[in-house]
Amino acid sequence: MFENLEKRFEELSSVLGVLEYIAIFFFSLIVLETAWDIYTKRRTKYKETIANFFIAFISALLERTLYGAIFVICLTVTESFISYKIPLTWWSWALALLAADLTYYWMHRFEHEIRILWANHIVHHSSPEYNLTTSLRLAWVDSLIEWIFLVPMIVIGFEVTQTIIAFLFIVVYQTWIHTEKIGKLKGLDKIFNTPSVHRVHHGSNRKYLDKNYGGVLMIWDHLFGTYQAEEEKVKYGVTIPLNSSNPLTINFKEYWLIAKDVRSSKSINDAFGYIFGRPGWRPKRNKKDQELSLDASKGMREN
Ligand SMILES: [Zn+2]
Ligand SMILES: [Zn+2]
Repeated sequence: MFENLEKRFEELSSVLGVLEYIAIFFFSLIVLETAWDIYTKRRTKYKETIANFFIAFISALLERTLYGAIFVICLTVTESFISYKIPLTWWSWALALLAADLTYYWMHRFEHEIRILWANHIVHHSSPEYNLTTSLRLAWVDSLIEWIFLVPMIVIGFEVTQTIIAFLFIVVYQTWIHTEKIGKLKGLDKIFNTPSVHRVHHGSNRKYLDKNYGGVLMIWDHLFGTYQAEEEKVKYGVTIPLNSSNPLTINFKEYWLIAKDVRSSKSINDAFGYIFGRPGWRPKRNKKDQELSLDASKGMREN
């Protein structure tokens, strides 16, 4: 087991070195876009941008230390129970990327449709602005839990290193799509996650809520009925604005709201609903509650 762990850390650190160059390239793009927006006075309020950079800095620290170790250790322990392995070949890489993309779709969907997971993912959606720095705005607790979603890939027989790299590829790909500077890309918008497709995902317009979960490919959204093309102007953010650029509020407010709801629960069922129900879930006690709950069933993110 410990030999395996050592091997995994060595393999990953050499391949992650390559991914680091891609990350540096994307980070340079983010800095360039920010500088351009400030120079051309497109961005006049800096609080959200500063918050996004600060959140990314803390995330990077956590991912390179504690979270990285948790990811590798938990998946390697899982792998030790699996007696077969898919060999490392070109076709297994193609399969791993496809499997990681499907995994990402469902992870992302659960993060929108189960409130305790939404409490983590809301960080990425809570900004009323949309630019490349939004891609940096990922919850501090993200990597603490996301390894769980990769367990099925390990059980299928994919190597830990291959699984993590394929997953990271799906995540890093999405950096460039957080922009309004690239319009629609016609046919590509139906196949790939593009700026237009992802703008819809970040919209709080009713018809855009909980749509376009895909990481790289849009086939999963077509297949599972969550695809939505960009039709009306996107209103970014969540249905009830956060009204704060404080990184602590951004990261933890929804957990606090859940705790408040659980404290006010009149039964275990209610508490369970507040934690694991859809965001916006309310116990159905009177007509108003029923209406609110109806909204929740339509995917409203009001809490
Ligand atoms: Zn999302
Ligand atoms: Zn996004």
